Amino acid sequence: MEKARIVIVGAGISGLSCARHLMNQGVNLRILEKSSRPGGRCSSHKSHDDFYDHGAQYFTARTPLFKKLTEILKINNQVEELTHAIKQLSDDGSLHDLPDAHRYVGIPNMEAVPNALSVNLPIDYSTKVEAIKYAKKVWKINISRPNGRHDIIIADTLIFAIPADQMLRFDVPDCFKETLQHFKMDPCWAVMLGFKTALETSVSALRLNESEYQPLSWVMKKPDYSSGSIGERWVIHAGPRWSRSNLEMDSKQVISILFDKFSDIIDTKNFCSSGSKLWRYASGGRSHQFRYLADLSQSIIACGDWANGGRIEGAWTSGIAAAEHFLTEFKC
Ligand SMILES: Cc1cc2nc3c(=O)[nH]c(=O)nc-3n(C[C@H](O)[C@H](O)[C@H](O)COP(=O)(O)OP(=O)(O)OC[C@H]3O[C@@H](n4cnc5c(N)ncnc54)[C@H](O)[C@@H]3O)c2cc1C
Repeated sequence: MEKARIVIVGAGISGLSCARHLMNQGVNLRILEKSSRPGGRCSSHKSHDDFYDHGAQYFTARTPLFKKLTEILKINNQVEELTHAIKQLSDDGSLHDLPDAHRYVGIPNMEAVPNALSVNLPIDYSTKVEAIKYAKKVWKINISRPNGRHDIIIADTLIFAIPADQMLRFDVPDCFKETLQHFKMDPCWAVMLGFKTALETSVSALRLNESEYQPLSWVMKKPDYSSGSIGERWVIHAGPRWSRSNLEMDSKQVISILFDKFSDIIDTKNFCSSGSKLWRYASGGRSHQFRYLADLSQSIIACGDWANGGRIEGAWTSGIAAAEHFLTEFKC
């Protein structure tokens, strides 16, 4: 049995920002991450020599603190402003520019953002939290590792930085359950397509209304930072309604259906490589803005994009707010 002062579950953007803020204040902590890399939904898929951002496509920076971080990442050549014009394809087939905003992408891919945030953080990768129990003023955390080994970690404080739906599986306080049950996160099927040569289109990124262009909700040509072998890489997202109705669909069929619709909009006959990823908990929580949940009596905090309007900036800000709450209310 191992001991830790604070355990953070999840090394996505919210878990990383929370951890970094606490570490900067000298707090001793440990992060448990079930995947082998940081980033969660802000990650990239490697196919041969080519990377595809199959989760978050870009991020915006609107709040002063997050703008400051973005500036640092820019100076370090870890992010760059997205130069693509993003268009909305209206139901009548006309194209409109989305309102102007500063949008950023990771260099060479979106994984650059979590990679930068995770430097020197104590993260146990490939470590899945299976169950938690609060008793005698400590958290008992059951974990599993890839070799099938199960362990227990004891912590004074537990900080969850995972999607709301996933948190409901755990024995969290009733006051958390009451709030979390209102968050239904939407799934998203993402398809990655490689083309030998550049497609003949002036479109780089397109938002679509799922009900009109079913199943598509988003298509984007990936910025050309990769040194891979392919002429052009595109990512396509299916909308939440279609994704939810087809959770169990075979990957090849998903690729075929999404490509058919894609080629109706952007003239192309063949792709040379393809892949797909189902995000079961892609997005949600946009209308709720309380930033985090906390229960001092059981020393537990929950943060994540779902608590702060969704998206990368919301996740990052939620993690910082959760850390601040710990520093002001929990730390003794
Ligand atoms: C398809 C798609 C497109 C998107 N597009 C954009 C976009 O263009 N712009 C934008 O700003 N945002 C976008 N987003 C949203 C953005 O990716 C998220 O808001 C943000 O990454 C969420 O970060 P998070 O830390 O809250 O959660 P997550 O990224 O989900 O991180 C949670 C982490 O916890 C880990 N974990 C979960 N359960 C356990 C467990 N039991 N034990 C250990 N570890 C666990 C997971 O592996 C994961 O690493 C998109 C998301 C998706 C899926």
